[in-house]
Amino acid sequence: LHANIELPDDVVEARENGAMGIGLFRTEFLFLNRNDLPDEDEQFEAYRRVAQEMDGLPVTIRTYDLGADKQTDDAQRITTNPALGLRAIRLCLTEPQRFLIQLRAMLRASHYGKVNIMIPMLMNAAELDQALQLLARAKQSLDEEGMPYDRDIKVGGMIEVPAAALALGLFTKKLDFLSVGTNDLIQYTLAIDRTDDTVAHLYDPLHPAVLNLLAHIFRTANKAGVPVAVCGEMAGDVSLTRLLLALGLRQYSMHSAHLPDVKQQILKSNLCEIKPFARKMLRASDPDKLRALLGRLNA
Ligand code: PEP
Ligand code: MG
Repeated sequence: LHANIELPDDVVEARENGAMGIGLFRTEFLFLNRNDLPDEDEQFEAYRRVAQEMDGLPVTIRTYDLGADKQTDDAQRITTNPALGLRAIRLCLTEPQRFLIQLRAMLRASHYGKVNIMIPMLMNAAELDQALQLLARAKQSLDEEGMPYDRDIKVGGMIEVPAAALALGLFTKKLDFLSVGTNDLIQYTLAIDRTDDTVAHLYDPLHPAVLNLLAHIFRTANKAGVPVAVCGEMAGDVSLTRLLLALGLRQYSMHSAHLPDVKQQILKSNLCEIKPFARKMLRASDPDKLRALLGRLNA
């Protein structure tokens, strides 16, 4: 059970609530609401602080997921469909110098704890290859300067785009771990803008397409031996804890406040009893039947 954090100060609450690691450090928050950009040293200090305060527990730092709903002041781009536009890894790859600064800062911090690097919103193999090439360049530049970093640093990717979920083999071969961003995965699967209140009522984690995609991701990743987590809001929704467990999830990352309840729910669960419900839920298409099954699963 891991915690999602936005700023280094959030580690205190994560530890108080018993997080066994940081599953998602949303680093873009270091870039927001300011006129300048955080330089390498400022980023390094932030990442190192989290790594040290977690005292050897894993800290998964996500490369900045800017764009769409999270724009920096210097990059107010005018675009009709920001969620489908230049955001997350797509944006990073268009500005390699800025991306390299962050990769160097993360690598430097890896010397002070158990740091993992995570890439958001991967969609195709070329993006992953380019990101890995830039990471290799960042490592090389640190080597040239004699700066220490964890040579075994693990690299993971977020599965947030249906194409990535369906073609998971593109990523399981080259990555050390996966984490499902259900907030975006649901947005893109159901074609619902997550920032648009007028369609918020259509947002449905129990939509059969979402459940079957999740089951497919967990099954494929487990079969490939690649650890898979969920770090979207679904992971912290205690009414969905058992369902995710029954579908094959073993790593949850969420806002710290939800950790105690989700932990209790897991401790009260018996896998043999809940698995048949999940199988029935994957086959059910009637929303009322689905909700009734969920009620019985959680009873
Ligand atoms: C997600 O999409 O589920 C996720 C964890 O990333 P974010 O909410 O920051 O887009
Ligand atoms: Mg996301």
